[in-house]
Amino acid sequence: MKVQTEIKTYFNYINGNWVSSVSNNVEPSINPANRHDIVGYVQRSTLEDVNEAVTAAKQAQTSWWKRSGVERGEYLYKAAHILEQRLQDIAETMTREMGKTLAEAKAETMRGVHILRYYAGEGARKIGDVIPSSDSEGLLFTTRVPLGVVGVISPWNFPVAIPIWKMAPALVYGNTVVLKPASETVVTAAKVIECFHEAGFPKGVVNMVCGSGSVVGQGIANHPDIDGVTFTGSNTVGKQVGRAAFERGAKYQLEMGGKNPVIVAKDADLDLAVEGTISGGLRSTGQKCTATSRVFIEREVYEPFKAKLLERVKQLKIGNGLDAETWMGPCASESQFHTVLSYIEKGKSEGAKLIYGGNRCLEGELANGFFVEPTIFEDVDLQMTIAREEIFGPVLALIQVDSIEEAIKLANDTEYGLSASIYTKNIGNALEFIKDIEAGLIKVNAETAGVEFQAPFGGMKQSSSHSREQGQAAIEFFTSIKTVFVKA
Ligand code: NAP
Ligand code: MG
Repeated sequence: MKVQTEIKTYFNYINGNWVSSVSNNVEPSINPANRHDIVGYVQRSTLEDVNEAVTAAKQAQTSWWKRSGVERGEYLYKAAHILEQRLQDIAETMTREMGKTLAEAKAETMRGVHILRYYAGEGARKIGDVIPSSDSEGLLFTTRVPLGVVGVISPWNFPVAIPIWKMAPALVYGNTVVLKPASETVVTAAKVIECFHEAGFPKGVVNMVCGSGSVVGQGIANHPDIDGVTFTGSNTVGKQVGRAAFERGAKYQLEMGGKNPVIVAKDADLDLAVEGTISGGLRSTGQKCTATSRVFIEREVYEPFKAKLLERVKQLKIGNGLDAETWMGPCASESQFHTVLSYIEKGKSEGAKLIYGGNRCLEGELANGFFVEPTIFEDVDLQMTIAREEIFGPVLALIQVDSIEEAIKLANDTEYGLSASIYTKNIGNALEFIKDIEAGLIKVNAETAGVEFQAPFGGMKQSSSHSREQGQAAIEFFTSIKTVFVKA
């Protein structure tokens, strides 16, 4: 394509070098708040580029693993330090490239710093257990070894935190990495990888290949020299990646979609519940895997809750995420924007009652971007598409219920099981919810979104491949256990 020379081009990172794809093709990365703003040009890579990166990662792995965990951790501390110094620039790039507000982008980048430090410390923690042997003279213990080369396939909605929460544990436990970032957020990813480069990781330990999911992503999933694939993204693609890895006997981990419920009990603090519903459902333009999308409200408080929700949603300022007063930015891409609008149309045509928003924003400069109004439906039936499929946009569905028991039953009527929340002051309700709700992340009097890096994260049912990421749980995916018996 014809490249505007004043706009920077970003390269693949293979074996310690920034390199063009062998295809010599680049594509623009677009600002969703203003489609005329090109954030940078990024590589359209081929399978040949994937092969080069995997070869580099494979060659580097043995000597990387020979270092101690403490030493590997030192590199992560350095990367954390550099990322923290570049926080402002990387956060601004993220906002420009995928639209979330600068405040959210800064918080996410800082989270990346914390994750790197957490896993840097992991390099000095235990990697096994001593188990009493039935032979009183024997020593029975476990130790852990890396998988080898890990392929990381990441989405655009957390373009700093997700690659880091996969790469940091992979690296500290002795794996080398080939990252394929989402096409929407390659410039942000390249700036993260620059931090790893400058931290001085040995050549080949960290690699990044950018390009389409069907070529580069699938190439990673299929590659015989990739020993583990960690994927976050949609269910359709996740299943494909999982199948490809399974077929060739590689380990895989899939974190996928959600259709996350919040339950508002009749005894809830309604102001708190409204805040949590707005924040969980609409921050990041509803593009979090843990975003609230179905709101179950006990009949007695339905009207007051709805009135407060409508009052609050009117105050949300929509705009370019770089403006300090913006609360909600655009959809991250044109295709996401059309998807959200088509779900809104489906909601209307299937008989849900639109009570707020529902339109594209066309006022002033908003017309240049992929902005959709915060949207609220009521009279939503659980069989409607907007109650079943993940929308990944600023759309809430309100559903009245007669009891907490009914709310939990309906909340569980979904193929997903990522996160769920309840607002209640009744401990009995809370305990019933914790016991019966089918979700990997459960919140009481707090929004469905929001994950702490030091705790396990992942979903039940179709939301994940049943593994967990982050915190101490990450060791389970990124290592294999060796059980050892020793006798003199
Ligand atoms: P996506 O379309 O599934 O893409 C995810 C990644 O897979 C991207 O890097 C994509 O590359 C790549 N890919 C696409 N086709 C592929 C293929 N055939 N083989 C291998 N890789 C392929 O998802 P997304 O739209 O980026 O992200 C949104 C989804 O992520 C939502 O469903 C959301 O719920 C989920 N998500 C889940 C979590 C979680 O932890 N559970 C967290 C965040 C997001 P391209 O960008 O080049 O297409
Ligand atoms: Mg973009």
